[in-house]
Formats: sequence, C-alpha cells, structure tokens
Amino acid sequence: MYNVVIIGSGCAGLTAAIYAARANLKPLVLDGHEPGGQLSLTTHVENFPGFPDGIMGPELIENMRKQAQKFGAEFKGGAVSEVDVSKRPFRITAGKDTYETEALIVAAGASARLLGLKGEKALIGHGVSTCATCDGYFFRGKPIAVAGGGDTAMEEANFLSRYASKVHLIHRRNEFRASKIMIDRARANAKVEFVTPFVIEEILAPQGFVEGVRLRHLETKETRDIPLAGVFVAIGHDPNTTVFKGKLEMDSNGYLLAKHGSLTAIPGVFVAGDVQDHRYRQAVTAAGSGCMAAMDAEKFLEEHKH
Ligand code: NAP
Repeated sequence: MYNVVIIGSGCAGLTAAIYAARANLKPLVLDGHEPGGQLSLTTHVENFPGFPDGIMGPELIENMRKQAQKFGAEFKGGAVSEVDVSKRPFRITAGKDTYETEALIVAAGASARLLGLKGEKALIGHGVSTCATCDGYFFRGKPIAVAGGGDTAMEEANFLSRYASKVHLIHRRNEFRASKIMIDRARANAKVEFVTPFVIEEILAPQGFVEGVRLRHLETKETRDIPLAGVFVAIGHDPNTTVFKGKLEMDSNGYLLAKHGSLTAIPGVFVAGDVQDHRYRQAVTAAGSGCMAAMDAEKFLEEHKH
C-alpha cells in the first residue's frame, strides 16, 4: 500500500515525486511507455529557468529523477494497463503488478503525433521537432517547414517566422482546420508560404540531420524536393488517457479536466502536466503543476488520516 502513486515520469511526474518524497510520502512513480516524457525526446532546452547556458532535455530529466530518488521516491517500469478509482485505496495495474494507493497523481503526459515517416523519430533533435517554442531559436536564418493545417500549425508557422528565413507550411488539403483568424495571420506573413495539397513523403537526411523534404502533390502526384534545415510536425497531440476513459472526466479531445489546480471530481485523484494541459505544454508549467498536485495530495492525505 502506497501513500501516493504517480503515473508518468516526465517533468510533471518527477516534480510531483520530488515534492511528495520530501514530504516523506515515499511515492511510487510508474514510468509509463515513454520514461522521461517529451523532454527525453528533445535536445537543447534554453527556457527552463536556472540554466543560463541551457541544458540537454535528457540531462534535465535525469537530474529530476535523481533528485526524486535522493529523497526516497521509488520507480517502477511498465505502462499502466488498468486503473480502478471507484473506491479507495485506488488500484493501478502496470505490467504484471497491481499497486494500491491512498492518493493518485496522474501525470501521464501527451504524445505529439508524428507523420509516421521512416527515420522521423530518430531525427527528433536533429532537425525534426514537435515544439516550436522549444526549438525555433535553433533555426535562425534557415528555411524550415511546418506540417499541419490546424491552429497549432498556423501558430507555429507565425512564431517560427521570427527566426527562420522562410517557413513552408505544408498541408495535405487545400482547406484548413485552423480558425480563420489564425489562417489570415499566417497568410499575411511574408515569410510563410502555403504549400498545399502536399504530403511529406520523405525527410531527406543523408547525413543524420535534416537537409530537406520530398513532397508529393496529392492530386497530380508530382514530387518536389525542398531544401530545409528543420521540419516542425504540428499535427496535434494525443493525451495519454485511454486507461482513464469513463473513469475520470475529460474533454472531447481526451484531456483530463482539472479544477482548482490539480483536483479532479474524485477526491484523492490529482492531475498534472500535459495530460490536462493542451495550452501551455511547457516543461516549466508541467513542473509547476506537478508541484501543485503533490501539495494537494499531501493535504488530502493529512485530512484523511486513518
Ligand atoms: P488539429 O486541430 O487536430 O489539427 C491537426 C492538423 O494536422 C489537421 O490539419 C490535420 O489535417 C493534420 N494532420 C493530422 N494527421 C496528419 C497526418 N498524419 N499527416 C498530415 N497531416 C495530418 O490539432 P492542433 O492544430 O494541434 O489543435 C488542437 C486543438 O488545440 C484544436 O482544438 C485547436 O483549435 C487548439 N489550438 C488553439 C490555438 C489557439 O487558439 N491559439 C492554438 C493551438 C491549438 P486534416 O485537417 O486534413 O485532418
């Protein structure tokens, strides 16, 4: 029986673990299918406060993990396959093991959707990115592409035009899912060129970093190569909430609903990080919400002492 189980070991989960461990709650962290979360998939992080020269994402997350371990957090691998939050203690199944806990912090994160192209995942941090705020700065004065036709793609194209010499906005249809105002803003941006209806057929990276993309026109089947330094994939995120369907409240996109900080409709279940946030999605905001969830869990346990 645990005081607190934390699902997820990204920035939110690990910050929750540091706080819960320092509060002597001996938390258990379940790593999930992507230990370290999205920071483990990025390279240089320059906007996490406290690192004037930046820090590599994997190193930042490893430091947080060590910090949590130092205060007594326990870690176990395995993706969560089953949760029962209908009564306390809550029951969590991961792999072959089932854990019981008085409080639960869900920090399972969200995963950026990828295009599914060969080599795409391995090129993350080498020209492929899923986060303009994180990586835009590295493409100063260089041509890049943004793939997608939703609000995120429009927002990222505009944001990236501050740095890039040119932004090719590549979308598979001539119509856009994005709101009119966001499309108009991107269209009015002299650095943004709309390239539709094209799909990226291949990311060209003969030397292990992005040098261009091969596009295919969906109607004429024409192919075209464009030289680029970076490809920003902006085709949406999926919150990792499948196991919570019908158990915790979520919005129509599957993001968990939090109220008053980290609280959910179920007393004792708290949420933190990208699993409940599709707006900010930053390491620092995830860390902040992890802290809030741990403090809320601590208060809850204090109030529900046997
Ligand atoms: P989204 O609205 O789901 O759009 C995803 C886009 O990616 C669509 O254009 C889709 O094309 C394309 N796409 C999906 N899978 C693809 C694939 N395999 N290959 C190529 N293209 C693919 O996602 P989002 O833009 O991230 O937005 C998510 C939510 O956040 C939305 O509700 C949005 O309004 C909101 N948001 C709001 C703001 C804002 O208001 N400032 C900013 C960002 C996001 P199709 O259209 O052809 O399906």
